[in-house]
Amino acid sequence: MTRSTVSPVGFHHVTAIAGDPQKNVDFYLTGLGLRLVKKTVNFDDPGTYHLYYGDESGRPGSLITFFPWRGIQQGVVGAGQATQTAFSVPAGSLGWWVSHLERLGFAPRITSNGSDEERLLVLDPDGLQIELVATNASDPRDPWDSSLHPAEIAIRGQHSSVLTVRDPDKTIELLTSDLGMHVVSAAGNRTRLAWGDGLPGAIIDVVGSGLSPEGLTAGGAVHHIAFRVPDQATQMAWREELVSRGHRVTEILDRNYFTSIYFREPGGVLYEIATDTPGFDVDEPLLELGRSLKLPPWLEPNREMIEARVAPLSVPGFNNPGGNAA
Ligand code: ZN
Repeated sequence: MTRSTVSPVGFHHVTAIAGDPQKNVDFYLTGLGLRLVKKTVNFDDPGTYHLYYGDESGRPGSLITFFPWRGIQQGVVGAGQATQTAFSVPAGSLGWWVSHLERLGFAPRITSNGSDEERLLVLDPDGLQIELVATNASDPRDPWDSSLHPAEIAIRGQHSSVLTVRDPDKTIELLTSDLGMHVVSAAGNRTRLAWGDGLPGAIIDVVGSGLSPEGLTAGGAVHHIAFRVPDQATQMAWREELVSRGHRVTEILDRNYFTSIYFREPGGVLYEIATDTPGFDVDEPLLELGRSLKLPPWLEPNREMIEARVAPLSVPGFNNPGGNAA
């Protein structure tokens, strides 16, 4: 097996923990202009939602997903976590985003990490740190053109994640030796790594946390980050390779829209490797994505009980243009 043919090529998704699912839907749809591409349940805790947001079809690299647990304790952002999740927006669009998010009652602020990118930081309703990065670097991905968010300013997909870890060297070593990334730049306690040409969606910033406290993975914190591989054959080859390098990797798990393997990196961040296939239109057509509660075949017999436990969600009509709001 040659490494170059099987290396992941970028992000598949980021998964974080939320509290109230309705506030979560409102922020990611009306706030960020992503599309709810799947309303399902947490397969490991089927009495709670698993909500997927992305571009029109939920392409890998556009996705952020949430486990909303009502009343969950507040997490702590700190060492051992993916502490910031950045999306790519066009250069010159941050002014639009500042006024849009302020109008919705959020407090975005323009930040700098010392690079030449313009960045906006906003906390989602649970305190999750979301960044919009306005980059001049080419981002060939088409945005989802919702009625509230014109294509000129809309999110193109994931840009990057920040991993905050006590010992950056070990985290960087794994990303470069075992996952095929390369170092793009290093300044102070921050090292930027990328796959390929380092386009948005294929970038990780590793930040040394010094002695700052460990994070607590609960509300407003990232649960894991997922990298993409094209198909299950590649995933299986990757699993063997990672196991042979001493990583403790899970079996392949069926997530209905992709299959997954998981392992923890030395800094404490949980990694997933997920397949591009079969995708979100496997159980409902493109125009209907996100409209009704979808369950995998093995949970379908329990639908009545599950529907009684998850509270109904109100999804804005622009999520399914041409149809009625759910
Ligand atoms: Zn995942």
